[in-house]
Amino acid sequence: MSGQRMSKQIPDRVVVVGSSVGGTRAAQGLRAAGFTGQVVIVGAEKVAPYDKPPLSKQLLSGEWSVEDIALASVEELGGAGIELRLGVAAGGVDVANRTLTLVDGTTLGYDALVIATGVRPRTLSAPRTVALHTVRELADVSALRGALDSGHGLVVVGGGFIGAEIASTAAGLGVPVSIVEALPAPFSRVLGDEVGGLLAQLHAENGVEVVSGTGVVALRCGPTGLTEVELGDGRVLSAGAVAVGIGCVPNTDWLAGSGIPLADGVATDQFSRVREVPGVYAIGDVANWHDVRTGTSRRVEHWTHAFQQAQLVAHNIVHPDDLQAQTRAPYFWSDQHGVKIQMVGRRGREDAVDVMWRDTSDGQRPVALYSDRGRFTGGVTFGAPQLSARLRRAWEDGLALTDACALVAGLPAPARA
Ligand SMILES: Cc1cc2nc3c(=O)[nH]c(=O)nc-3n(C[C@H](O)[C@H](O)[C@H](O)COP(=O)(O)OP(=O)(O)OC[C@H]3O[C@@H](n4cnc5c(N)ncnc54)[C@H](O)[C@@H]3O)c2cc1C
Repeated sequence: MSGQRMSKQIPDRVVVVGSSVGGTRAAQGLRAAGFTGQVVIVGAEKVAPYDKPPLSKQLLSGEWSVEDIALASVEELGGAGIELRLGVAAGGVDVANRTLTLVDGTTLGYDALVIATGVRPRTLSAPRTVALHTVRELADVSALRGALDSGHGLVVVGGGFIGAEIASTAAGLGVPVSIVEALPAPFSRVLGDEVGGLLAQLHAENGVEVVSGTGVVALRCGPTGLTEVELGDGRVLSAGAVAVGIGCVPNTDWLAGSGIPLADGVATDQFSRVREVPGVYAIGDVANWHDVRTGTSRRVEHWTHAFQQAQLVAHNIVHPDDLQAQTRAPYFWSDQHGVKIQMVGRRGREDAVDVMWRDTSDGQRPVALYSDRGRFTGGVTFGAPQLSARLRRAWEDGLALTDACALVAGLPAPARA
């Protein structure tokens, strides 16, 4: 046994459940942090680890191939001494005996367990003649692409970011698209009504019909075989494909009854340690993580958060005497109609919002700054990645709204009419 692992606190065998960005980067992070024990990744999906954000963007459009979205090859992981158990889900865990049971009946002992099982999309109930599409895994993309290629249009139910990206990609393929959002303004849950409206405008400018303030009351197969989507306001939309983007649920069913605390995901402390269950950690979309900066716990479904937590959990497993918590600014991006939309920080319900217009590489685009009594709380940029990076630093430095405004002013001013 190495000197490192002779320390009582450092495990000999780490089992990671989930083979996407959280799980894969955690396993690689353990090696990068100098961990010399055994590392095993258990993944329900058969294929080698791949990245999810391109699924609704470059993979759906056909611009990229499956090879382009690999997170790591089987050979690369094998070369790093990371063992893969792919195509078999974890079915249960015995935390007292530190044993994981896979659905094929095999068991795996662990000293430390990292749960990175992510989320799965919610869907709607529909008659068996109606196919509803969601996008979370590789196979979902080919199924949706096939339906889009039928040329009979797409209805996206739900104005969240993944649905909006599907709409944008389909529109780019020349497919007639409608987005249906029950809230008064699409995207308003995260961005607020005003900025959500700006995003809706971007869709409208690119030929996407945005129907908001009304929900879906019925789905049926119409007389021509197309799906009919009946709305609360009486309208009926017909399309060859219906995609649903109404949020996700954490993949925690397999943990029921295990003693691992579940509360909209796996409840962890700020260091990704599962509360009151020694040796178990949870990261990424599935983790209901405690944010010490706000004193609240929440799940975050963004790539950068999963990636950062993967690195931190690896560090925390290898260096239990130097625990580190997430302190970077909340951040996500989305690509829609050729525009990179980036959000830094978070919008509080009562936050004020100021919208400015600036010339950017994508033409004249808005920048929105959120604030709470003069404190800069978040910013959304459209096609301004450098400004987004500066706002990210401003957020981490705790700058005031006036400072954030000064950063925005550093961009070229709009041309006078
Ligand atoms: C289409 C799409 C587009 C996105 N675009 C963006 C974007 O533009 N920007 C952004 O910030 N974020 C984006 N995201 C979100 C981002 O991809 C996620 O935040 C990130 O993938 C979370 O990683 P994760 O490893 O925590 O979970 P996931 O990526 O959900 O992976 C979890 C893995 O665990 C596996 N699993 C589940 N249960 C079990 C089990 N019992 N046993 C074994 N394995 C199991 C699953 O099969 C899956 O492979 C997008 C997501 C999707 C789906």
